[in-house]
Amino acid sequence: MDKNELAEELKRRQLVKAEDIVSSINKVSPDKISVQQFKDAVNSCSDNEIIMSYLVCSGCGAPILPYETDVDAITRESKNIAEWFSRLDEAIAAHGDGVRTYQKL
Ligand SMILES: [Zn+2]
Repeated sequence: MDKNELAEELKRRQLVKAEDIVSSINKVSPDKISVQQFKDAVNSCSDNEIIMSYLVCSGCGAPILPYETDVDAITRESKNIAEWFSRLDEAIAAHGDGVRTYQKL
């Protein structure tokens, strides 16, 4: 896949699940957001920003992968998004305390 294709697919998934994501964000965040605010934020993300949002550990806040070195290669080598997620899951497992930010997507 190319990076733009991956970014578009990740955005599409977040928009489809917007209501679920917003309700789980609002459970833990003191700053409540609306579904529309979330959708606007997703739509205004650059390709890099949306991809990076999947690559930050929700356990410790650190990057799961060094972005420029690994992600481009993983994205190029992945034939589809399922393969991209399975590589991401391997990296998360290697990271230790990691859970994917958007676990259910
Ligand atoms: Zn971590």
